[in-house]
This record gives sequence, structure tokens and C-alpha cells, in this order.
Amino acid sequence: MIAAAGSGERLGAGGPKAFVPLTGRRMVEWSIAACRAAGSVRSIVVACPPGHVHDLAGGDVGVVDGGATRAQSVSNALAAVGTELVAIHDAARPLVTPELIDGVVATLLDDADADGAIAATPVADTIKRTVPPGHQGRNAFSMDKDEKALRPQIEGTVERGELWAAQTPQVFWVEALRAAMAGDSKGIAAATDEAMLIEAAGGRVLIHPAPAENLKVTTPVDLKLAETLLGERSGE
Ligand code: C5P
Repeated sequence: MIAAAGSGERLGAGGPKAFVPLTGRRMVEWSIAACRAAGSVRSIVVACPPGHVHDLAGGDVGVVDGGATRAQSVSNALAAVGTELVAIHDAARPLVTPELIDGVVATLLDDADADGAIAATPVADTIKRTVPPGHQGRNAFSMDKDEKALRPQIEGTVERGELWAAQTPQVFWVEALRAAMAGDSKGIAAATDEAMLIEAAGGRVLIHPAPAENLKVTTPVDLKLAETLLGERSGE
């Protein structure tokens, strides 16, 4: 399942991100091509933004209307899934490869009692946690420049060895995902990935180490990088 119904406001391309031209294709078509070439994929369904369902309809790809939130888009597409396993992928990650999709599926099948497996990459930066707004100490407020007083203040450093940046594809047993998505609706709407829902339901999700190259296109800089990397790949 490909989530492609975002508005892409942060990219500022003047239309939905998944349909932005990228090295000779619309962005979502890179993910569709990777899914088609993955041996573990039986069928493909894409959650599309309003007005774009007809852009993909008619071929071997199922299309559904996306929703106002990513979780709603995933829920709409999940209703169309008839297999035991589902791999959820963001159209915003056009550098996904068939090998990565098959690899995440294999990681789950190797430990089939788990509920899911996700692509993730070790975090390279040192990560700081900041004081919640309004809780900064007296020292922060004693600065006489308003601009400085508003600056985020570090509370601590998160142990980097335990941190992974979650990517997609994220693969789940459909039954486990449907059960997790039947829970608290506020939590579901706020979820930025599906693993969060399984975690909240007390489930077990495995990490499949993935290359940082499987990047998410969010800003114009990411788009440039994706163009370069996909261009190199097409030229191979
Ligand atoms: O906005 P963001 O880049 O975090 O979105 C991640 C993925 O979720 C994107 O591929 C986007 O198209 C998808 N999405 C969706 N429906 C929404 C919002 C985002 O399918 N309402």
C-alpha cells in the first residue's frame, strides 16, 4: 500500500508531492515500480489525493481516495487489502528498492510471531531533547533580549546508540494492524507511522536496517538530492 495523499505543503511544488515530476516520472511512480519488481508483492493499492485518483486508475494498481490525515489515508487503503501481510510505504520515499521491500517482509517472516517489521536507519546526529515551552528556568528568562528568551533550551541528550530513524516500508500482519487501528481514534489520527499504533497496543515490531539513501522528500533540498540519486540509478 502506498500512502500518496499528502498535500506536500512543505515542498511548495504547487500541488500534491506524490505527483511532482521527478527524473522522468511522477514521484509516486518510482515507488509503484519498486513494488512491481518486488517478489513479495502480490498487489498494489495507492491512496491518492483528491482529484488524482484518475491519474493512476486503469492499470494493475488499485486506487482509493486518501483522507485528511495520513492515518485516514492508510485506513481507506487498508479496507482494500485482501492479503495476510501488508507493506505500507510513503510515496515521499521514491528511492525505495525492491530489495528493501522484500528484505523487510523477510525480517518479519523470520520471526513470524512479531506483529511487524519496519525499515529504519541508525541515527547519525547527537539528539537533544529541549525543555517544553513555558518550563524554561529563571536563567533563560533573565536574558533581556526577547529573541534569546524564546530560543529552545536543552534539557538533555538522548542516548544515540538506541535510536533509529523510522522509514517505510513498514510491514505488518493485516490482522494485527486492523486491531491496532480499531483503538483510540485521537491516537490514531496523531500517529506519524503505523508502528506507533502497534507499539501503543503492546505489540512487537522488528527493525530491518535500511540505507539512509531511502530518504524522505520533504523540502526542495530533498527533492534535488532524490533527483541526483535517481538520475545516477537510471544511468547505471
Ligand atoms: O506529509 P508527510 O511527508 O509526512 O507524509 C508522509 C506520507 O503520507 C506521504 O507519502 C504522503 O503522501 C502521505 N499522506 C497521505 N495522506 C495524508 C497525508 C499524508 O497519504 N492525508
